[in-house]
Amino acid sequence: MKVLLVYAHPEPKSLNGSLRDFTVKRLEQAGHVVQVSDLYAMKWKASLDADDSRERLSAERFYPSRESKHALEKGVQSEDIAREQDKLMWADAVILQFPMWWFSMPAILKGWVERVYAYGFAYGVGEHSDARWGERYGEGKFAGKRAMLIVTTGGWESHYSARGINGPMDDVLFPIQHGILYYPGFDVVPPFVVYRTSKIDETNYAQVRDALGQRLDDLWTTAPIPFRQQNGGAYAIPQLTLRDEFAPEQVGFAAHIE
Ligand SMILES: Cc1cc2nc3c(=O)[nH]c(=O)nc-3n(C[C@H](O)[C@H](O)[C@H](O)COP(=O)(O)OP(=O)(O)OC[C@H]3O[C@@H](n4cnc5c(N)ncnc54)[C@H](O)[C@@H]3O)c2cc1C
Repeated sequence: MKVLLVYAHPEPKSLNGSLRDFTVKRLEQAGHVVQVSDLYAMKWKASLDADDSRERLSAERFYPSRESKHALEKGVQSEDIAREQDKLMWADAVILQFPMWWFSMPAILKGWVERVYAYGFAYGVGEHSDARWGERYGEGKFAGKRAMLIVTTGGWESHYSARGINGPMDDVLFPIQHGILYYPGFDVVPPFVVYRTSKIDETNYAQVRDALGQRLDDLWTTAPIPFRQQNGGAYAIPQLTLRDEFAPEQVGFAAHIE
């Protein structure tokens, strides 16, 4: 299988750096082919702006979505964006690896998503009708591909538990797993999270590494998070609210998981 690892940490000697090297080795030893997008090493441009296209649709005003659509259709996107899109189409599985910074991904990785996920590529795909609202949330360009997060946190596991002060980890990661990964069609397997990183040292690093190794070995067989399909009948269209007969007792993020 082909795996794209999109990696966002500025220091190769970090815990994330070690886990990245381990991940690549483990996957390659199992016979997979791996490409790494090491965003800091690539000096990835994080901000989406008018320079992302070699030929503007409008010189008057910059409309991010319209310019993105135009650039994709005309083949005038900046080359760094097109290269990452090719990697995404090449991959059978995509891993996003990052330290949690302010309850989300580092800005450089968010910028990768904003720029690479072009209109007509990751959103604005498919027709809208009374029965379908585009190809998204379970359908889309990346349908059939798998995705997984590798995340490290300073916070303890209890801080991210059901009643933990930070909110449950499933909720914290929902915008990434449901919004960024499931939206364009990935099957998202549960994340691999390393908590309380300040306590990692020579004595317990091997445990973390072995647990990650197992998750990588199981990448193709682990059951994906059962997010509900948008066009599968559970949602009223065009309101896109969950129909009353589905999980009537639930609201919020959890309602969108079967
Ligand atoms: C801007 C910012 C915002 C943050 N926001 C949040 C937040 O919202 N929520 C939250 O929970 N945390 C937050 N943090 C903490 C952050 O998530 C952690 O600092 C980060 O996940 C640690 O990962 P690292 O790769 O930088 O670890 P490192 O600091 O590189 O390493 C952690 C420990 O692992 C050890 N180690 C590294 N490699 C090895 C190895 N090969 N063998 C043995 N030991 C090793 C190191 O010695 C160190 O003790 C934030 C941090 C920053 C800087």
